[in-house]
Amino acid sequence: MSKSSWSQGAGRQSRRTRGSRRGRGSVSDERPVILRLAGISRRYSGAENAPALSDVTLTVREGEFVAIVGASGAGKSTLLNLLGLLDTPSTGTYVVAGRRIDELDERARDRLRASTFGFVFQDSHMLLKETVAGNAALGLSINDVDPALRPGIVAAALDTVGLLEKAGDLAGNVSGGERQRVAIARAIATAPKILLADEPTGALDTANSTRVARMLRDLNRDGVTVIMITHDPSIARTADRVIEISDGKVLSDEATADQATVRGRRPPETRELPAATQSSWSRVRERIGAAISHHTVHAARAALLLLAFTVGSGGLVTAIGLSQSAAAQVVGRLDSAALDEFLVVPKNTPTAIRTELALPDDAPASQVAEVAQQRLRGLDGVLSVGLTSIAEFDEGVTLLNPAMVAEQPVLSPQIRVADREYLRLRGVSLGTEHESMRLFERNAEAPAVILGPALAERLGYADQVPGSQLWIGSTSAAIIGVIGELGEEPQLASALIVNPALAAVVSAADPTLIVQTEPGLPAGLAEVVGATVAPGDPSLFTAETVADLRSLTQGVASDLVSLITIVSWVLLVLSSLSAATAAYLSVHARAAEIALRRAVGESKRSIWGQFVLEGVLVGLLGGVLGSALGVVMLVVFAAQQGWTPTFNFAFLGVGVAAGACTGIIASLYPAALAAQQDPALAVRGT
Ligand code: ADP
Repeated sequence: MSKSSWSQGAGRQSRRTRGSRRGRGSVSDERPVILRLAGISRRYSGAENAPALSDVTLTVREGEFVAIVGASGAGKSTLLNLLGLLDTPSTGTYVVAGRRIDELDERARDRLRASTFGFVFQDSHMLLKETVAGNAALGLSINDVDPALRPGIVAAALDTVGLLEKAGDLAGNVSGGERQRVAIARAIATAPKILLADEPTGALDTANSTRVARMLRDLNRDGVTVIMITHDPSIARTADRVIEISDGKVLSDEATADQATVRGRRPPETRELPAATQSSWSRVRERIGAAISHHTVHAARAALLLLAFTVGSGGLVTAIGLSQSAAAQVVGRLDSAALDEFLVVPKNTPTAIRTELALPDDAPASQVAEVAQQRLRGLDGVLSVGLTSIAEFDEGVTLLNPAMVAEQPVLSPQIRVADREYLRLRGVSLGTEHESMRLFERNAEAPAVILGPALAERLGYADQVPGSQLWIGSTSAAIIGVIGELGEEPQLASALIVNPALAAVVSAADPTLIVQTEPGLPAGLAEVVGATVAPGDPSLFTAETVADLRSLTQGVASDLVSLITIVSWVLLVLSSLSAATAAYLSVHARAAEIALRRAVGESKRSIWGQFVLEGVLVGLLGGVLGSALGVVMLVVFAAQQGWTPTFNFAFLGVGVAAGACTGIIASLYPAALAAQQDPALAVRGT
């Protein structure tokens, strides 16, 4: 932009208008009208007193330099915000470059604002962690100007304000006066026809104020219409026309330059912002870049957000993985149980059972088992029957005769009665074929026991000691050995297994029978078990087939899955809430930035989209990290539990999708809030 050699007018002409006298403020009547306000009022909601502006009628012509003065609270900023389409009037008509603004929708107003106005505020509203050039280019990226054209435009704008050599510096590292010049560069980069400046020198020292005022003057000489609020009389004097506002009304409207001078200025250049030629893909890339750069600039905030999403999706992946592994574990155990077995469980009514089986009331459990077994063996397809029962034995178990040795470990392990068939069918064995196992035949009379490995250790019993004895209370029994294979009964590790000869000693409950059949028969046989064992009252014995057990445990497993899934979703919701809170707070922290973006033409939708995009990106990354974390946790936990981790690559998808979705959800409200930020309020509020 060239500097004009036109001098300020010699003979000054001055006109005064009072109150609301209309349309007389313009000094250059030949120039086309660019702004026309007729009967404009603005009343703020909630403010009961007088309106901030009432019945203002004004005309501004192209190329004018207008200063607006007045006491604090007079309504100057309200007027400037209305002029710049940052706010809308309560009543009255406002026409910008021939277009009535009440006939435009919000997006059209945004566009008109971006194409017509440039803003300079008292606060420079710099993005301090962005470079000087980046700040000056803000309006260009918001208006989708071809990225290839931007450096040239920005360089010209920075050159105009004398800051080209600082283009690469961070805005946070330049002085206050320089920031205000960058703000002017940012405003003029978009080639505005009208520059609106709200106390542009308010925060500057005299030297910088003079410099900024001179720049505005130069811009005006190059044809830009300038409207500036100032409380500094010396700055106001640099304008061609001074409008004084008082109590929301135009108090005076005075020309300070003679008409000839103003008329003699060259006509405004028809400068236009280059058309938005950016391709959609390049725009999307740029928005993603902006979102990433926002996160890297505010690393601490981004890291916290990331942590929330990582914990949330990591918890989800771990939980799903673990619950599925646990379920697979349960189901796997059952699968390994033969498909040729079922259990016969007696009802807990010993007397009724004995009556039904024609036994005396005080018949021991072993007799009940005997009768039941005989009847079961009578069924076609039954191959063998084993028995087990829980004992209720309160006295201690010792290795040495307690009557002789007082000082020795006395334990109270869980005691189970079982016969050889039962142990065989359940895969419980000493590890090697053991001759003495015949002592566990149902009708063996010599008391014998087998120790669970954990119990043996606690008792201090070393295996393979021939002829060892164990004392159950005051009854001694031969120790056959220590369990080597726990088969399907891992809980027997710390139990004492006694043979049926000891059933009475340990007060065994009525036994559960395990029936082995020819393959495929359990379901059918289970149907008739009750009637076979107890024809008078079939309900005294119930049959549980493996299939029953399997559906039962599948039920348990799926309950487990849903429980853990619910817990992990709760975790995810909590982490989303904390992320949403962080995003919500960041909207407030970024109010000035948002206002500025709105002022330079960014639409509400685009602000909304930017916030959601920032949320999605960090959520997505959190989802990826969380999934990886979840897999590691799953492997570690499963190893601890001795499980085979059931791993499905779909979990990773779930984790990543959960991260992205919660990223969106967590940012929806903050994004809406950001989009609703009133640009005028935010600009004023700082
Ligand atoms: P000036 O810029 O001349 O200092 P303003 O235009 O900021 O004056 O304010 C004019 C009047 O409107 C003042 O009384 C002010 O308190 C009031 N006002 C300004 N903005 C708002 C708002 N957002 N809500 C309510 N009242 C407001």
